[in-house]
Amino acid sequence: MLERDTLLSEPAHRAGTPQARHVHGLLLSGQRALSELFPGFEQDLARAGAVPLRAGLDVRVERPGYDPFPQRDLGWSGYAVSRPTIERTVRRRVEGHANITLRQRCRVKEVLASPDGAMVTGVRYENDDGTSETMAADLVVDASGRGALTLALLQSVGRPLPEETTIGINLGYATCIFAIPNDASTDWKGVMTFGEAPRDSRGALMLPLEGNRWMVTVGHRGDVLPGDAEGFLAFAQSLRTPTIYNAIRHSKRLDGVARYGFPESVRRHFERLDGFPRGLLPIGDAICRFNPVYGQGMSVAALEACLLKRLLERAEEDSDPIAGLAPSFFSEMQALIETPWSVAMLDFAFPETRGERPADFETTLKFGIALTRLAAEDPAVHRLTIEVQHLLKPRSVYRDPNLMRRVFARMAEV
Ligand SMILES: Cc1cc2nc3c(=O)[nH]c(=O)nc-3n(C[C@H](O)[C@H](O)[C@H](O)COP(=O)(O)OP(=O)(O)OC[C@H]3O[C@@H](n4cnc5c(N)ncnc54)[C@H](O)[C@@H]3O)c2cc1C
Repeated sequence: MLERDTLLSEPAHRAGTPQARHVHGLLLSGQRALSELFPGFEQDLARAGAVPLRAGLDVRVERPGYDPFPQRDLGWSGYAVSRPTIERTVRRRVEGHANITLRQRCRVKEVLASPDGAMVTGVRYENDDGTSETMAADLVVDASGRGALTLALLQSVGRPLPEETTIGINLGYATCIFAIPNDASTDWKGVMTFGEAPRDSRGALMLPLEGNRWMVTVGHRGDVLPGDAEGFLAFAQSLRTPTIYNAIRHSKRLDGVARYGFPESVRRHFERLDGFPRGLLPIGDAICRFNPVYGQGMSVAALEACLLKRLLERAEEDSDPIAGLAPSFFSEMQALIETPWSVAMLDFAFPETRGERPADFETTLKFGIALTRLAAEDPAVHRLTIEVQHLLKPRSVYRDPNLMRRVFARMAEV
């Protein structure tokens, strides 16, 4: 593993993952995928101070018409924890593998390929002191987030770049950390609040972190959010509901305000390319970046890592296990991406969203509103929606005839 940053032994922020300063919810699917890769991972998180959250119960969800949405214990737990601690917990497990070497301060500059571009042969990287080295490889996995290395290689060997589908959202994010006061509410451990689409895109998520802290991320579409504490509090006060503002206004601020601008969700269609260099595989954000509001990116990356593991195990007996790897991966990962991408498409609820709005989107929205109403009344439907939200089940479960009949009946009432 070649990593451009210095990796400290304690959880810490670093330049290569600036998003780590913002709330990073780990969905149950991601937690389970990481446990599949690293058995006992959840216990590791708990030992690192992660705060257990009962699904459906511990996070107060406030959305128009439901302030709050009914809180129910749906039967499983997740963990709330900072992104640097998730990274550190994963890295510790990776470091425990005798056949993995983690090299820090190595910035990969290019993927190397045979002159005809048919086969990747390794990478060239730069050390801290500016010296350049090459490393031969049978398989290069591009987990660099941006995927620029993969695109540059395709371009340099004259191959077409993958088509991209984008959903333009211009999201502004700002985050601050607070000490949890002694008199904090005991009715919830976290709060998620939504504005009233399409008029009001302001929303916020406050989750507990290890070390008795709250991390509060606020966001909206449009201008950059204020970077000072007063501006942050004023924005929190302007949210549709007062719960988060009331919780933090007298709490001790432990950090400055971190900001992030997220222009668009991007899906690169590597699966549509005719042929791909043997021995190269982009993964995670290098393939698909989702609007972070839905908290899907880490979990999709972890699910993809599990898929890669299965494909490598399946190919173990093949005379050339690398040859068919990328095409199989690109094809099989479509099923993984379908649900999170359809969730990202919900951004078309805001008319200013750029991109190709699906023709039947109005029906999708009305279906969603009716489904939410059913979920509020019926714990079984609530459970199903949370399972889809956590990517434990595909969105196609909503096509169950019995459920559809009930949802359509609700839609007819409006
Ligand atoms: C503001 C924000 C909030 C988010 N919130 C959530 C959330 O709540 N839940 C969630 O699941 N996801 C969230 N995400 C998405 C999540 O951060 C990403 O989907 C996830 O980190 C993708 O993992 P990755 O491994 O593909 O890339 P990254 O996590 O970005 O990792 C890339 C790594 O590659 C290294 N690197 C890059 N270039 C090179 C190079 N040339 N040479 C060597 N090393 C290199 C970087 O230093 C870094 O360590 C959020 C994203 C943003 C922007």
